[in-house]
Amino acid sequence: MSATHEKGMQAFRSVMDAPIASFFASCVHCGLCAEACLFYTETGDPKYTPIYKLEPLKKFWRREYTLVGKLMGLVGIGATVRDKELAEWSELVYDSCTMCGRCSMVCPVGNDLTYMIRKMREGMAVAGHAPDGLRGATQRAIELGSPMGVKLETLQAQIRHQEKDTGLKVPLDAEGADYMVLLSSMETVNFPEYIGALARIFDKAGVSWTIASEAFEATNSGIQIGVSDLAKVLVQRIVDAAERLKVKYVISPECGHAYTALRWEGPNLIGKPYTFEVVHILELLEQLKRAGRLRTSGKDERKITFHDPCQIVRRGGVLQQPRELLGSVAADFREMPDGGVMNWCCGGGGGVSANDRAEELRLKAFNRKKRQVEATGAGTLVTACANCRIVLEEGLEHNEMNIEVVGLTELIAEYLTDDQPAAAGGEA
Ligand code: SF4
Ligand code: SF4
Repeated sequence: MSATHEKGMQAFRSVMDAPIASFFASCVHCGLCAEACLFYTETGDPKYTPIYKLEPLKKFWRREYTLVGKLMGLVGIGATVRDKELAEWSELVYDSCTMCGRCSMVCPVGNDLTYMIRKMREGMAVAGHAPDGLRGATQRAIELGSPMGVKLETLQAQIRHQEKDTGLKVPLDAEGADYMVLLSSMETVNFPEYIGALARIFDKAGVSWTIASEAFEATNSGIQIGVSDLAKVLVQRIVDAAERLKVKYVISPECGHAYTALRWEGPNLIGKPYTFEVVHILELLEQLKRAGRLRTSGKDERKITFHDPCQIVRRGGVLQQPRELLGSVAADFREMPDGGVMNWCCGGGGGVSANDRAEELRLKAFNRKKRQVEATGAGTLVTACANCRIVLEEGLEHNEMNIEVVGLTELIAEYLTDDQPAAAGGEA
């Protein structure tokens, strides 16, 4: 057993908890999780069955935590997890799982397979079997503050462009603001109009906000690769900035997993509750709309459908808010089949889009999304996650589908009316 393999087994040992043990013990081998996973449905390959992706962790549990396994180990029989096996499973755990959570929704005995895959990634990463693309992204996130290597200077340049376009100031390091905005690198680089849309919406709604120069990145590569210590460093960076600026809320951007990482996992990672609340941008926009502070006029006549980002709708419960917002600006909104909590993943979440070797499989898995979109007859696909947006654009391009992809916040900003209440300057 090599030193890294031994460390991987130690990591398996450290993540093994009561939920994992009870999940393995209660699996009734019904196969329902297979039909919920786009990597299985679009390839038909049984190795992409969610529970099968966990086989090494299951083998480890059986060997070390069941009586039969222990007895077999004593007499030198029974299966042990070998390094070669972990190397083989790297594709199943990192390339063919977006941690979308759809399999967890259908399991009749309530197994949270996504939770287990996340835990299994911890052992895989320690044993040296995380893909290069994710390793590089995580290193850049720790060293430079962004998985794509986006520096403060890049953000400042994008802010200047948006200030020029909108004629509005984008506040940087404004102490005492109510809301601290986080961005994903993909927004900063690919969709900087999101920053301009926020400036326009917050100006009309009288929201006091800021971006922190020390913590503007929302993406948590530590969660994606499965290294809790690194995930903790990235969460702590945001917490420190929010406390320094004394904000009341931190806004998670149009990024799926950033919301999960910060809102649900963050306090557990740093071991204490936050001094602020985390709110997803769509939750805030809907709150502003309900409070009469976000007013729009006119309707978009295009045929519009909406892609629910998995982490936001399924693991975050943000289901009605985008529909309420779309209802105010879309004249012809068309729900996808399976839209909402059972929506199908774009195929690029959970670090898959940052993993070059997964590209061919990801494009195959995209066929599910292709059929979903085609069924609506829509020509405009709106979403609320920059990563989904890029993956959707690539998938549509690959399939030669003439469908535009739009961010929901930007769409709302297009229909703002001048008829706004007097700026309240306060919280939603
Ligand atoms: S979390 Fe999603 S991608 Fe991963 S195994 Fe489950 S259904 Fe498949
Ligand atoms: S759906 Fe649940 S019980 Fe059925 S095979 Fe998958 S993990 Fe096991």
